[in-house]
Formats: sequence, C-alpha cells, structure tokens
Amino acid sequence: MKNRADMSHPIVSDDYFQQWQDLLDLFAEFMEVPVVLLTHLNESDELAVMVKNRAIENPYQINQKFNLTGSDTYCEFAIRQQQTLFVANANEDPQWKDKYDHNLGMVNYLGVPVIWPNGDPFGTLCVLDTKTHYYSELQIKMMVQLRNIFEANLDILEKNFELEEVAKTLEYLANTDDLTGLWNRRAFIAQAETELQRTSRYNRTLCLLMFDIDDFKRINDLHGHNTGDEAIKLFSECIMTSKRSYDIFGRIGGEEFAMILPETELASALTLAERMRECVENLTLPLVSGENVSFTVSIGLTEYSEQDDGIFALLSRADRNLYIAKHQGKNCVVA
Ligand code: GH3
Ligand code: MG
Ligand code: MG
Repeated sequence: MKNRADMSHPIVSDDYFQQWQDLLDLFAEFMEVPVVLLTHLNESDELAVMVKNRAIENPYQINQKFNLTGSDTYCEFAIRQQQTLFVANANEDPQWKDKYDHNLGMVNYLGVPVIWPNGDPFGTLCVLDTKTHYYSELQIKMMVQLRNIFEANLDILEKNFELEEVAKTLEYLANTDDLTGLWNRRAFIAQAETELQRTSRYNRTLCLLMFDIDDFKRINDLHGHNTGDEAIKLFSECIMTSKRSYDIFGRIGGEEFAMILPETELASALTLAERMRECVENLTLPLVSGENVSFTVSIGLTEYSEQDDGIFALLSRADRNLYIAKHQGKNCVVA
C-alpha cells in the first residue's frame, strides 16, 4: 500500500453524500440485505463508515471509526488485499469467526475495494447479512457497476478540486507583486475602491498614503539592480510590520507604494505615516562588501472627502502631496 502521508484528496461534499445514501438504500433492497456500507479510509489510516443504508437493521453507525491495522473487519481485508472479498458464513470460517463484524451478527459479507483515480485506496462498498447469502450474477454485476459510479464521482471530485487549486493559484498570481508578495497595482486599486465605497456608504473616514523611495535611482546606479531589488523588499517588510492588520498596502509602481487606512482620520494617519517614515530611515541593508545601504521615503497623504467620486481622486491628491514632499527636501510626510 502507498504511503498515506503523501495523499491529499478533496473532501466528499454533502451533495454527493445525499445521492450516495439514496443509492445505497436502493441497492440494499436489490441485494436483499439488511446492511450496505460505503467505507472510507482517511488520511490517518482510520477506516470509517461514510454512508450506510437507512434500514434500522443496520447496526453500523456513520462515522464509526476503526484503526485499519488490526481492525479485524472484512473491509480491512478487502482494502489490504485490494480485491473482492466474499464470506458465505463466518460461523463456518475460523478466519472470520468471533471477529468484529461477526460479533455484530454479520456472518455474511461481499465487498469490493473503491479507489481514488490515482490508485490510492478510498475504502470499500460492501453488503452484509445475518445469514448465509449467495448473490446472483446480476447482483454482483450491479455491485461492480455501483462501485464504478462511485469511482467516477471521485474522479469528477478530484478534477474539480484540481481546477479550484489552479484557479486559486492564478488568482494569487494575478493579484500579487512578484518581488514583494504585496498586492500589485490592479489588486490594490480594486480593494481600495471597495473600501472607499464602504466608507462613503456608511459615512466613515479613510486616508490614503502614497510612498516613493527617495533617490532610488542612486541605489541602482551605485550598487546594482539586485541591491535595488533587496532594498524594495526590505522597505516593504518594514512597512508591513508597522502597518495595522486592516490597512491595505500595495506596490503600485517600481519604487512607489500606496496604502489605504480605513477608519482613520487625518491626524492619526499623519502619526502612522510619520512612524513608517522613521522606520524606513532606520533601515540598513548590509551588502557582501561590508557596506551598509540606507535610504529614505517621502509620503503624500490625503483624507477622503464626500466630493471624492472614486479612488483616483484620492490617488491624484496624494500624488500632489508626494510631489510637494519631494520638493521640500524628501524624507518627510505631506498632508
Ligand atoms: P526621487 O527621490 O525623486 O523619487 O528619485 P528616484 O531616483 O527615486 O526616482 P526616479 O523615478 O528617477 O527613479 C526610480 C528608479 O527606480 C528608476 C528605476 O530604474 C528604478 N526601479 C523601478 N522599479 C525597480 C525595480 O523593481 N527594481 C530596481 N532595482 N529598480 C527599480
Ligand atoms: Mg518614483
Ligand atoms: Mg523615487
């Protein structure tokens, strides 16, 4: 059997669960047995009853779990051997007499393994009875068919799961800046716009900050582009650690960043911006040469007002203040 620690499969949804239960009820009647089970082997090697027919004669409980190793159930055998198991009557079979299922009164068993599309064991589909029971060829054929239906369902589940994973990765890549892991321009603008609408609808306050690293071209020119990249990363980490969890921070250009401060008035935003400016001023980026690179940032700040009809109104005002900050000698905050 494969190493179960490597397995990662989707959880079977409630929709499937309901459909499967209905199928098992019909199947129990067709097989003329009191008990039908679909068992499932989880990632911790526990075998659990996942679905059962609803008959009151069925003594098994949904979610009833057995440690697979040494569970002494018929199902354990079918899973371990990965083959169909038929026990006509355990009373006449020392291998099964006085074992778990036999003690529940289930002397008769027919079970087939169910597998995930990649070959990992899923569990079993099985029928049990309290008396000797031989099954017709048609009944056995139906059991194999039903197992195939379950396996086809698992295949669909797994493909949907993979699609969702790919979609999540794509969404992440589409919204994230490679270098820093921050929101990229597009994602920042989208989130800022949403936050702004909320602010306007509920008559709240909000501030926007624009950051531009000072004399960044010089870092590139003096120390090379890689050092420039390292400086951008260090800068973004510094701001990430000094911002509040609900502030939205993104990289909107090469060495330009922006932040939305929800529920924040101008005075508090100024304090926060000043703290961030100071944090950047105190950064040092050590180089292999033994040198330390330091740099500063200028920040333009603006507060939302009712006349603002979208995020670009705030962005252009913050940009103007940033321009003023640069002209005032850089390394400062202008509101
Ligand atoms: P100022 O203080 O006026 O902002 O001057 P500055 O040198 O920072 O501004 P300028 O706009 O002249 O130069 C920005 C430089 O940033 C130019 C560009 O090559 C560099 N840059 C943009 N994106 C990246 C990047 O991802 N990595 C590196 N290493 N450099 C970048
Ligand atoms: Mg710039
Ligand atoms: Mg700059």
